Amino acid sequence: MCGVVGIHAPGQEAAPLAALGIFALQHRGQESAGLAVSDRDGIMVYKDLGLVSQVLDERRLASLRGDLAIAHCRYSTTGSTHWENAQPTFRLGPRRSVAIGHNGNLVNTRELVAELPGGRERLVGTTDTEVLTALLSDEPGADLVAALTTLLPRVSGAYSLVVMDEGRVIGARDPYGFRPLCLGRLPAEAVVAERAPASAVAPSDPLPWGEEVAAPAPVAGRGWVLASETAALDVLGAEYVRDVEPGEMVVIGEPDGPRSIRFAESHERLCVFELIYFARPDSYLLGRNLYEARRRMGEVLAREAPAEADLVMPVPDTGAPAAAGFAEASGIPYRDGMVKNRYAGRTFIQPSQSMRQRGVDMKLSVLREQVRGKRLVVVDDSIVRGTTTRQIVALLRRAGAAEVHLRISAPPIHHPCFYGIDTSIETELIASRLDVPGIRDFVGADSLAFLSIGGVLDAIDLPRSRFCFACFDGDYPVPVPYDVASHKFVLEPAGAR
Ligand code: AMP
Repeated sequence: MCGVVGIHAPGQEAAPLAALGIFALQHRGQESAGLAVSDRDGIMVYKDLGLVSQVLDERRLASLRGDLAIAHCRYSTTGSTHWENAQPTFRLGPRRSVAIGHNGNLVNTRELVAELPGGRERLVGTTDTEVLTALLSDEPGADLVAALTTLLPRVSGAYSLVVMDEGRVIGARDPYGFRPLCLGRLPAEAVVAERAPASAVAPSDPLPWGEEVAAPAPVAGRGWVLASETAALDVLGAEYVRDVEPGEMVVIGEPDGPRSIRFAESHERLCVFELIYFARPDSYLLGRNLYEARRRMGEVLAREAPAEADLVMPVPDTGAPAAAGFAEASGIPYRDGMVKNRYAGRTFIQPSQSMRQRGVDMKLSVLREQVRGKRLVVVDDSIVRGTTTRQIVALLRRAGAAEVHLRISAPPIHHPCFYGIDTSIETELIASRLDVPGIRDFVGADSLAFLSIGGVLDAIDLPRSRFCFACFDGDYPVPVPYDVASHKFVLEPAGAR
């Protein structure tokens, strides 16, 4: 997945703002974090493996000077978890120096490497993003915008990018807009050390349900922020302006305020899994608040797959909005049956299966008094490999639950994602091997039901054509070549990991 932030903060230090923004996006990637700043003379990058708060501490931020910054947190989809693969990537090339933060996953990395003079040998890491950075530093064109305009049409797959040179930061989204990216306006004085007063921090535009905000013309003046999710704007007290559109670049940091350049036609196909699970519940996508969207998914699920039970409970934390909706629609009381260790990361996001396995034990504990002897509806947002879910059901049974009726507020995931979510190879997906009764037996539940694709659409109340549902229906908007489909380490020699 990954989170990205770009900042232009005229007359201020951009690094602390970028760090605060990327901290709000920590859920999008926990393997590494980093920041690049420009003081208009040169770019400086700091990055490391670890969480945002571990990598970007105050001492380091104080040494990163300039009014332009980009920041990144990483969840790997191409390349292993090495320092070399942390972002922003940076290259001082023959034509220009560039730094890039990338959310997404390219599907023509091999072709792009073939374009690189010197090929793979010129790279220090093994990510698609580094290939892009090397190409961009070498791409003909009068400036960064011109270079991106000719390079991006040759790049295939998912990318929401923040790109910088010494004089500007550019937000760019692939023509399908698989991953989100929005533009916001910083308050007159973005207060970081002291928090801004509540009125300034509150989102200025709580988009009303069902209304999509038209794109107002960007206005010159205060600073600007680009971010994967609107939640990052809120923490900066920034005002949501609009989404960067699929196939569009938005340039900030130049004297005349933001400008927009379209490098490709829009074929919008936002990843629906962002709405189901990935993005924060306080974020907005396509005018939809994600807590409300997920609560509605729970309501529709209760109508599609009712259950006789004493209590509805979520798998914390991400199952909570849908569980609330299920409880309201079914009239079954809502209660917490598990607590989550708030210091444990997302289980899934750990890059190997063995780490994931240990993660579950660290992460969840059952509230025995609440579940003992009860017939439970347990609501979660998704089942991918089934391993976490199986352990959760076992934990509940050990604690004395009388019945466990699992309700999942997404359809079964039959197909891997090649556009930025590491669901890996098809055989690891439980729904690619087993039907619903088979999955029910594997996880050990008394009953199991998934929300239908139609149910997801009813809940979000937007047309299917605007979304990528590839993980649910196998309809991949961008064709995926075999080498990408077979593994994520396309740039790593066999046995190198
Ligand atoms: P499992 O039973 O092993 O398939 O794990 C299901 C859990 O993983 C659910 O609680 C989801 O919230 C969570 N999950 C689903 N997709 C992802 C993902 N891409 N990254 C991290 N966690 C995920």
